Amino acid sequence: MKLQGTMSVKGNELYIGGVGCKELRDKYKTPLYVFDEELVRNNCKEYIKHFKVNENKNRVAYAGKAFLPIYMCKLIAEEGLYLDVVSGGELFTVYKSGFPMEKVLFHGNNKTIDEIEMGVSLGVGRFVVDNYYELELLQSICEQKNKIQSIYFRITPGIEAHTHDYIQTGQIDSKFGFALSNGDLQDALENIKKYENINLVGLHAHIGSQIFDVAPYLDEVEIMMNLVKEIKQQHDINIEEVDLGGGVGVYYTESDEPKTIKEFCSEIIKKVDDVCKDINISVPILIIEPGRSIVANGGSTIYTVGSIKDIKDVRTYVSVDGGMTDNIRPSLYQAGYECSIANKMGIDKNNKVTIAGKCCESGDILITDVDVMDIESGDILIMSSTGAYGYSMSSNYNKIIKPAVVSVKDGKSKLICKRESFEDLLRLEIAD
Ligand SMILES: *Cc1c(COP(=O)(O)O)cnc(C)c1O
Repeated sequence: MKLQGTMSVKGNELYIGGVGCKELRDKYKTPLYVFDEELVRNNCKEYIKHFKVNENKNRVAYAGKAFLPIYMCKLIAEEGLYLDVVSGGELFTVYKSGFPMEKVLFHGNNKTIDEIEMGVSLGVGRFVVDNYYELELLQSICEQKNKIQSIYFRITPGIEAHTHDYIQTGQIDSKFGFALSNGDLQDALENIKKYENINLVGLHAHIGSQIFDVAPYLDEVEIMMNLVKEIKQQHDINIEEVDLGGGVGVYYTESDEPKTIKEFCSEIIKKVDDVCKDINISVPILIIEPGRSIVANGGSTIYTVGSIKDIKDVRTYVSVDGGMTDNIRPSLYQAGYECSIANKMGIDKNNKVTIAGKCCESGDILITDVDVMDIESGDILIMSSTGAYGYSMSSNYNKIIKPAVVSVKDGKSKLICKRESFEDLLRLEIAD
């Protein structure tokens, strides 16, 4: 397992943020999400620096769906980032954290009437409008509330990027955004002035997730900047802000070779400068929306090893006290992870095992065929890089309670989300 951030080994034990995994297990029990605060803050600082937030007034908006406890909202505010939300629940969380609402972007392809009303009332900075239906709703709600709302249009640019490759097609099959290819966007632009309570200030696109290659972003820049020019020429609308979305890839296993935040940002910014110069437009304010690349490597999950089943000539199953309820990604899309035995670091790896969760599903496998040290029941197994789309996607399937989240920094640990209790599981039930 690659050591991330502040991870270090003392004796045979793994430490994160200067806190030993045995101490974490004894104090907080397992499963436990461990949050390396220094790593996450450093990622924020890297984005702020290399995306030229201070020099060019660009903005970095953390995509909250990756991991959004109130503690994280406060950290994001302190580091000077903006924040993306995609639902009323995320909006509520961010609001309760005291986050400046003018720095919130509200996404989603099917915001409900209640969510739109809530967003307008709370003073969300930008609505990222996905479709005509939303545009109509937003106009009528703003009219009732006598407010003017700044918006971006979400565009489907015809680029779809995946981990190792990407495709460009004229018309893309997507549930998100106004398509460029079918005239939807042109229609909306022609009519936008009729929407008196709406102020179109920007364009947004998001081309995928866990992307390692900068090329699709450069193509996206090309498309978006040309669109800015076209909209000025054809509709006399000044697009001042261009949001390029998120999706920057991170390291999970040895097959992943991510670029640094610096490399990604610099290449994108240079491309924007070049294209704007070429087509003779002024450089807009740029927004980037990283989620995974801020928090993924900053989270780890520690489990206690339970039963070990050696099936001769087939495989050895090592079961842990969590699974698809705290990390759905392996079952949902075959996501790969690394692991180690936190109390046996530095000992030769000579066992190939499969790490299984405790749910009643054969598909509840966390890692298939991974090399680990000699493993025994009671050991502490750590899976690294579970910080994004782990806790935020967790469930109570099998009525398994959600783990606690603890932040570690400078030799100290701090509980930021309590472990659920069995009572919590019943809090919504009306028994008679
Ligand atoms: C999910 C999402 C992001 C963040 O994606 P990451 O891969 O986590 O960086 C950014 N913007 C939008 C609109 C998204 O839906």
